[in-house]
Amino acid sequence: MKISVTGAFDTIAAVSTCLGEAGIGIVRLSGPEAFGIAAKIFVPSGKIQVNEFSSHTVHYGKITDSGKTIDEALLTVMKAPKSYTCEDMAEISCHGGIYVVARVLELCISNGARSAEPGEFTKRAFINGRLDLAQAEAVCDIIKAKTDVSLDCAVRQLSGGLSGFINAAKSKLVDIMATIEVGIDYAEDDIRPEPVAKLAGRLHSVENELKTALDTFSAGKIFREGLRTAIAGRPNVGKSSLLNALIGENRAIVTEVPGTTRDTIEETINVNGIPLVLIDTAGIRRHTQDPVEKIGIDRTRRALDSADLVLFVVDNSVELEPGDFHIAELLASKKTIIVLNKSDLGSTAAAGAAKLKSDAQAVPVSALKATGLDALRDVIFRSFISRQLTVGSVILTNIRHKTLIEKALEHLGKSREAAAAGLSEEFIALDLRAALDSLGDHLGHRVGGQVDLIGETGGVRLKAQGAALCTTQRPVGRMVE
Ligand code: GDP
Repeated sequence: MKISVTGAFDTIAAVSTCLGEAGIGIVRLSGPEAFGIAAKIFVPSGKIQVNEFSSHTVHYGKITDSGKTIDEALLTVMKAPKSYTCEDMAEISCHGGIYVVARVLELCISNGARSAEPGEFTKRAFINGRLDLAQAEAVCDIIKAKTDVSLDCAVRQLSGGLSGFINAAKSKLVDIMATIEVGIDYAEDDIRPEPVAKLAGRLHSVENELKTALDTFSAGKIFREGLRTAIAGRPNVGKSSLLNALIGENRAIVTEVPGTTRDTIEETINVNGIPLVLIDTAGIRRHTQDPVEKIGIDRTRRALDSADLVLFVVDNSVELEPGDFHIAELLASKKTIIVLNKSDLGSTAAAGAAKLKSDAQAVPVSALKATGLDALRDVIFRSFISRQLTVGSVILTNIRHKTLIEKALEHLGKSREAAAAGLSEEFIALDLRAALDSLGDHLGHRVGGQVDLIGETGGVRLKAQGAALCTTQRPVGRMVE
């Protein structure tokens, strides 16, 4: 998507709350005409007019169209630059019906606003220097967070934890670069503020800091994106019952007829901070002629393919059957936990669990009696999170950040090796500059190619073209170094 900017932004409007019936719905305006447009449709109950409202105040009044009252509403006024977008912003909080919210938005548009594109408020916050790229991405993560830990990671990123860490690493590298450049500039005079070999040590210490952050990625990604977890097993072993027990409500239909869970069902639960996206699957049976059940089985195979983890349910009250071994074959390359269900009736299958899948841990549970579930949740957590993340530390959750840090580390390694080998400053500087660029890209400081901006509205991904951003006539300060 190209950003078309003609010196100044126009005024945009959008519904910022979910479309549906709710107590309140919010229509947001941002841009130079935000208050002018609000004044045309909002009649304050008091004597002060909209254009006289102080910043960061809330006012009661009516939304009207040609003198006819549409709704009672509150108008919140935030003047530039102290607003989310750094522009004049007006927020109309009306009643949250689908029709009334749409009418208020329509009125804003018929009075001069343009319908905002998905994520455009956040895009403006980025372009106007209110947020860097890592923070803009965090806005989307906050909206999508499903557990306290994923929310915590996103909030830390929004409040600048990651950006601060990257900036600190950058400034250490800039210091090293300054030392190197003195050496380059005064090469003929043989002036060296610091021996080249000593620089290797300084580079190494920045590398270590970046590596520590990189180590948090696998856990961070899981906390942010969750684990797709398929529940698989023969018909009637208790897959739906396990899903229900884990969710704590009757989400899937439980029947006593084998092979009747024919569709896949998805539900997200919180396992010690990990969002676990549970996918219940149709029971796998090797031979079935029923076409509907066949479709279910195909879906099961697809669900298994896409899963990060499989909870492989077997019936612990009976001997393992050939069907269990057939499913185990399908799971050969999958991270699997064997759930020995119906343990309230016995522990017959447990002895053979190791033969079923030697690399999978087995946990006895009873979905019916809701026993063993805490142990199961614990095993799930420990299978993926091997180390405790320190509160307050930087946690990488985003693949873009991981890739850029890896790139920076690659260049830093080369730069350090050049310094350790006593090569000339030009060689050391070459990779150091590239490492600095990678760290700058992290925050959107350097906009050379395409920049991914994550939208705030439902997490719609925006592609803002870097070149277009750079040609804006507005000051884009922090974006272009
Ligand atoms: P699915 O086909 O694998 O999804 O199995 P269901 O969840 O539909 O369960 C099949 C039958 O086993 C139902 O009658 C459940 O009540 C019963 N069942 C499920 N889990 C347990 C359990 O832990 N203990 C006992 N005794 N019965 C269970």
